[in-house]
Amino acid sequence: MNIALIAHDKKKDDLVELVVEYKDTLAKHNLFATGTTGGRVVDATGLDVHRFKSGPLGGDQQIGAFISDQKIDCVIFVRDPLTAQPHEPDVSALLRLCDVYEIPLATNVGTAEPLLRALAAGVFDD
Ligand code: PGA
Repeated sequence: MNIALIAHDKKKDDLVELVVEYKDTLAKHNLFATGTTGGRVVDATGLDVHRFKSGPLGGDQQIGAFISDQKIDCVIFVRDPLTAQPHEPDVSALLRLCDVYEIPLATNVGTAEPLLRALAAGVFDD
């Protein structure tokens, strides 16, 4: 599966912790990420990650374009609901495209964990 990983700044530690915990599972998939998030994931795990631009510089839109081309199968986007984001329209557009294409989407760790457990258990396998 092609999996996109994104986290707002104050949530990057949470996402990295999650990725470290599920590293063995994620290593079996193709990983994509916005620029800064991807850098953090690579530094922490050494996993191979295709990095787009940083989110505020268009990375969310790049992932959105991949979703609309049906090149992304799952999105984990750990959002910070307590901080205003300059690129909120891009974030909304990305979430909307997940709904348009019915892509599994986790927007917080509470949902990301069961999603990753399902991934590890092969629930998404054909
Ligand atoms: P970043 O982008 O990984 O480049 O920080 C994430 C975001 O959309 O805020």
